[in-house]
Amino acid sequence: MTEPKSASTRVLKVRDLRVYYETPKGDVLAVNGIDFDLYEGETLGLVGESGSGKSTAAMGILQLVVPPGRIVSGEVLLEGQSILGLPDEALRQIRWAKLALIPQGAMNSLNPTMKVSEQIKDVILAHEGKEAKKEIKARILELLSTVGLPGRVYDMYPHELSGGMKQRVCIAMAIALSPTVIVADESTSALDVVVQRVVAQTLLAVKRKLGVSMIMIGHDMGLMAQMVDRVAVMYAGKIVEIAPVQDIFIDPKHPYSQLLIASVPSLKERKPLKITEGITHDPRNPPPGCIFQLRCPFVMDKCRVQTPPMQEVKPDQLVACHLYEKTEDGSFINVRDVVGNT
Ligand code: SF4
Repeated sequence: MTEPKSASTRVLKVRDLRVYYETPKGDVLAVNGIDFDLYEGETLGLVGESGSGKSTAAMGILQLVVPPGRIVSGEVLLEGQSILGLPDEALRQIRWAKLALIPQGAMNSLNPTMKVSEQIKDVILAHEGKEAKKEIKARILELLSTVGLPGRVYDMYPHELSGGMKQRVCIAMAIALSPTVIVADESTSALDVVVQRVVAQTLLAVKRKLGVSMIMIGHDMGLMAQMVDRVAVMYAGKIVEIAPVQDIFIDPKHPYSQLLIASVPSLKERKPLKITEGITHDPRNPPPGCIFQLRCPFVMDKCRVQTPPMQEVKPDQLVACHLYEKTEDGSFINVRDVVGNT
C-alpha cells in the first residue's frame, strides 16, 4: 500500500485481515482481506453501511472477536510489533496501554455498581501496579478535566450521569494510560445530535492535546468530515477506497463512495436523497470479480470476472475499481470519460 505523502511514523499496519462468522449455512466473510496503515497523530475514519464489516474489523485489530466469529488470517503490527495471535497476558498488557477501545454503546459498558473514580483507578492499577496509587486521585481529576467533566464526577456513579457525561468517562478511561492508538467504535451514535457534537468535539480536543492516533468508525459522513484526516470506505468486508477526507468529499472515485457522498443531506441545496439501488450479494458466497458489481451503476463485463486491484489514482487516493486505467504517462483516466459516458 502506498503511504500518504504527509505520512509521519506509521503506528499501525493492517494487512489482509480476514474475520469470518460461522453459520450453519457456511462462513459469513465479514472482513474479507483489508489493508491499511495508521500514522502518528492521524485520525482515520472507517465508514460504510451497516454490515460492511467496519466494527468487526476493529474487533479483529483488538483481537476481541468472539465465537461464532474468528480471525482467519492477516497481519496486525502495532509500532512494528506483530500482535495477532499473541497470548492473552501479552494482549492484556497492550490493551488500554497501547491500544484502547471506546466501544459501541460505551455508555452501557460502565459498571453501574462502581463509582467513576474506582473504574478509572482499576484500569490504571491493573497496568501500573500499586506504585501508581500515590497520585492517582490527582491523575483521575486531571483526566476528567481533560474530557471536560467537573471534579464532582469523581465520586459519582454512572446512573447519576447523562449519556454524554458517561461517554466522556469512557473517553477518560481510554486515554488513562496514554495509548498509541484509540479505536472509537460508533462512539457517538447512541447520543442525540447535540450531545453527539459535544462528545465529538471532546474526542477531537483530546486527540489534539495528546497527539494520539485514532480509528474512528461510523456512518455519519458529516461528523467524519469534521473529525478525520483520511477516510477508508468499506463495502461488504473490503476497503474499496482510501483517501484524504477532502478528496473523498470533493472527488470520490469509487462508485460506492460517490453514492455514499450523494446520500449526505445538504442544507444549501434541496435535492432528493440518492439511494443505492440493487441487491447485495450473499455474504457467504461473494461473486467473482468486484464486490460492488450487483449495485454498481457502471458495471462492465470485466467487473464480473476480475477483482479490481487497489490503485493510487491520485496522490494518496487509492481505489479498487476497473473504471480507472493507467495511461502511458503514469496518470489514470476514467474509462467512462474516454468513451463519452456511454
Ligand atoms: Fe463498478 Fe466495476 Fe468499479 Fe466494481 S469495478 S465499482 S462494478 S465499475
